[in-house]
Amino acid sequence: MKTMFQTSTPGRKGVWPKAADKGAAHFLPDNLLRGRDLPLAELSELDVVRHFTRLSRLNFSVDGNMYPLGSCTMKYNPRFTEEVAALPGFARLHPLVPQIRGAGKLTQGALEVIYHLEELLCELTGMAGFTLQPMAGAHGELTGVMLIAAYHRDKGNKKTKIIVPDSAHGTNPASATIAGFNVVSIESKDGIIDPEALEAVMDDQVAGIMMTCPNTLGLFERNLPKIVQLARKHDALLYYDGANFNAIMGKLRPGDAGFDVVHLNLHKTFATPHGGGGPGSGPVGVSERLLEYLPISRVVRLEDGQYFLDYDYPKSIGYIAPFYGNFGVFLKAYAYILRLGRQGIINATENAVLAANYLRKRLENHLEIPYNRICMHEFVSSAVNQAKKGVRALDIAKGLLDKGHYAPTIYFPLIVHECLMIEPTETESKETLDRFVDDLIDILAKSETDPESLHQAPVTTSVRRLDEVKAARAMELKE
Ligand SMILES: *Cc1c(COP(=O)(O)O)cnc(C)c1O
Repeated sequence: MKTMFQTSTPGRKGVWPKAADKGAAHFLPDNLLRGRDLPLAELSELDVVRHFTRLSRLNFSVDGNMYPLGSCTMKYNPRFTEEVAALPGFARLHPLVPQIRGAGKLTQGALEVIYHLEELLCELTGMAGFTLQPMAGAHGELTGVMLIAAYHRDKGNKKTKIIVPDSAHGTNPASATIAGFNVVSIESKDGIIDPEALEAVMDDQVAGIMMTCPNTLGLFERNLPKIVQLARKHDALLYYDGANFNAIMGKLRPGDAGFDVVHLNLHKTFATPHGGGGPGSGPVGVSERLLEYLPISRVVRLEDGQYFLDYDYPKSIGYIAPFYGNFGVFLKAYAYILRLGRQGIINATENAVLAANYLRKRLENHLEIPYNRICMHEFVSSAVNQAKKGVRALDIAKGLLDKGHYAPTIYFPLIVHECLMIEPTETESKETLDRFVDDLIDILAKSETDPESLHQAPVTTSVRRLDEVKAARAMELKE
């Protein structure tokens, strides 16, 4: 495809300013005006529109087709939340506008949104307080583990270990390690945490247990009460990775179950999609005993209804992000939660779980499903049988691209070979789900009759199959 400069023709124009109209220029003194024209490509309006429309079609987008990527929950921005986030009173607010007590009214609305969203998240999770500062899920985990460390330090506890089951998200052990802990991994049994394996590694050195729920197999951790009991016995804190909260919101509150820390991914559950490279937001909620360690600043509400930023928390872990977090993402989450309301939140969860189970049932006779029982928002299948004939999960994923679907997550979680992790979300219609399954079943049939064609896939996309190692190691960037 040609660039705009390659198709530029001297003198061709897309807009038609009146000869005498200098636009904004007449506000400026002459010595600040540009002497020469900008070296822009010269095209007609239609050429420009077509150029960008063509470009947009080279990318897969959820505006075009379904996106069954596992562990990414929300895949699209509801349009109304975009409108809310773009309101000029919010979008144009500079983070350096003074926000100390009594300093004007410009920031009151923004502070109220932060305050009220924290309250709503407390309500949804059963936690005592929240910080909205972390910029992503992994950043929230790091914040949460730092809070656990601060708690034990303050109490004079000598704790060095964090336990992470092998069915937890891969960022969990990384976050615990960066926060200075030794990570102890335990093997899951039948797809969930095995209380016996946990008991075997529990001792008084354990600072905390990090649990992903639902875990990376899309399964609910049914042994929760036993896990809570074991943590209590050894004065270990309990961490709930709630990145995929859309599987459970309105149904279970981690705070009620005994958790001390929970992180959510607003960019998975609350109206901002994950997987687009950002921006994200990974708020962290804590139980009563961790409140005093939360990052500063915190938004507080005075008796007269004014909001202000309070920095006076001597035991706080301090700053963990510049300014206040990704405010635009808060606005979308706030609007989304208010619009759904109590019943809407419950419906979203039920639809997400129903859609995943529908796909699981329709596929169970075509793909191996290692833990084939009621799942939450996603399930993990495996192409082990196809792989025996030379068609791997990768080939199936590439085949789906040719049918116009985005590929599911593949080769994650690590505990299932040749896995495809499929998550439909709460928003796709039954017709769309059926089209996806029919196409997938077609591909699986082809893995028997014409495996070679799948090794070639994709053939209909703007870029064919890449040598992924070479693409990363021998990058050549030029026009
Ligand atoms: C996505 C995810 C994370 C990490 O979130 P990021 O925003 O990508 O850092 C952590 N835990 C689970 C269970 C996830 O699905």
